[in-house]
Amino acid sequence: MNICIIGAGITGLAAGHKLSKLGHKVSIFESASFSGGQASTIKIDNFEIEKAYHHLFATDKSILKLYKELGISDELTWYKSSVATYAENKIWKTSSPVDLLKLSLIPFSERVKLFIVSIRLKLLTNWKKLENETAYSWLSKKVSNKTFEIIFKPLLKGKFGRYYDKIPMPWFWSKVQTRVSSRNYKLQEVLCYPNNSFSNLISNLERSIKENKGQIFFNKKVTKIISKSNKIDSINVQDADSVTENIKFDIVISTVPYNVLDKLTHISDPLKDSMSKVDYMSAIVMILILNEKVTNYYWLSIADNEFPFLGLIEHTNLIPKSFYADNNILYITNYVENDNSLLELDYKELLDLYLPYLKKINNKFSTNWIKDYRFNKINYAQPIFPVNYSSIKIPLKLPLQGLYSANTAQIYPEDRGTNYSVAIAEKITKLIQNN
Ligand SMILES: Cc1cc2nc3c(=O)[nH]c(=O)nc-3n(C[C@H](O)[C@H](O)[C@H](O)COP(=O)(O)OP(=O)(O)OC[C@H]3O[C@@H](n4cnc5c(N)ncnc54)[C@H](O)[C@@H]3O)c2cc1C
Repeated sequence: MNICIIGAGITGLAAGHKLSKLGHKVSIFESASFSGGQASTIKIDNFEIEKAYHHLFATDKSILKLYKELGISDELTWYKSSVATYAENKIWKTSSPVDLLKLSLIPFSERVKLFIVSIRLKLLTNWKKLENETAYSWLSKKVSNKTFEIIFKPLLKGKFGRYYDKIPMPWFWSKVQTRVSSRNYKLQEVLCYPNNSFSNLISNLERSIKENKGQIFFNKKVTKIISKSNKIDSINVQDADSVTENIKFDIVISTVPYNVLDKLTHISDPLKDSMSKVDYMSAIVMILILNEKVTNYYWLSIADNEFPFLGLIEHTNLIPKSFYADNNILYITNYVENDNSLLELDYKELLDLYLPYLKKINNKFSTNWIKDYRFNKINYAQPIFPVNYSSIKIPLKLPLQGLYSANTAQIYPEDRGTNYSVAIAEKITKLIQNN
């Protein structure tokens, strides 16, 4: 089959790798000048690092299997993570269940309750039982008002902005599942990170596609998917000089968000209506290369809605500094609504806004610590689903013959991640093979 894949993110590359290996003629069109999409990396000095922090969990079986298949699994290393929460002007260690029981931020009886709630959620296999509730309403009923107001409400508001009370409960359930399953026998969370970043996975997928006679075209934006008699006919592709070319294909796999796909081809109701129910938030990620560490934790969630950011991810508190010429690498992360004014700020303006809050976390923090920086805004970073999404979830195979869609909004109830991108690429490959 002559297959077009729209997008060279992990989904597009994994699908391209699998389909080209099976003998299909694969062409990937990527609007950016690089592959990897949300998991893409950048070079800083002599090292490579993700534009947005990335790690893998023990439950990420599909991507771990892909590393093996590509013969690069020896570069995967497991590290003990350290997690904390900033609340009530203090950093609280929340790495393990024992830390939770010691969390004097809330009364002891509440800590026990919280512990039991998390165990119950972990043991619950039928997440559909939680489907018609939001995380906000479910948690507000299961924990005391104080715990909810100090911890969960600010965390939900910080992560989801105006959607804070609309997030379906299965999202929270899936977070508990992955985080609890990634604990070792000492109940310590362990996370996986490839030596020298995800760039080697990306380049190995590219290499495999090319070895199997596939092609990847950069700076090529797909502007239209054309069908004839309800069957895929061709696509229009625009290059960097706005020159459009029409190319024939038997199959088109779209890995772009629904509202982009909706503009490329005619999607009829009820699918169009379902697609319009998925919203997306953008991410603003600042990388600071520092000569000092800010905290002792890899992951610091901020449960204080006065803060203009959502969390600090101190990469070098997970991965040894020796990989990064002994620098400290800090990601300052934020998820914002698409019309949020923070998206208009440049690095300098954002840093000025963040500075007083970085000092609240570590009063010694100084701009003199900053040796270098990178700054990224990522569209469609987090899909936002309505409650009972499984009843309207869009299938991978669309009603137009030869058209498939594999994007982050097809990952549910799990939160999107590179592992699930690989898993849906596998599913699409099977659908095409069995067709
Ligand atoms: C801040 C942040 C942190 C994350 N942390 C983790 C983590 O720790 N672990 C983890 O596993 N995952 C993490 N993820 C999620 C993970 O990166 C994504 O789920 C995954 O990379 C999505 O891959 P994708 O190929 O489906 O989509 P994308 O990466 O979005 O790829 C889609 C591609 O399509 C291209 N495109 C769009 N429109 C067109 C067009 N018209 N024509 C041609 N090309 C087009 C885009 O340029 C893009 O390259 C994180 C994501 C973010 C934003």
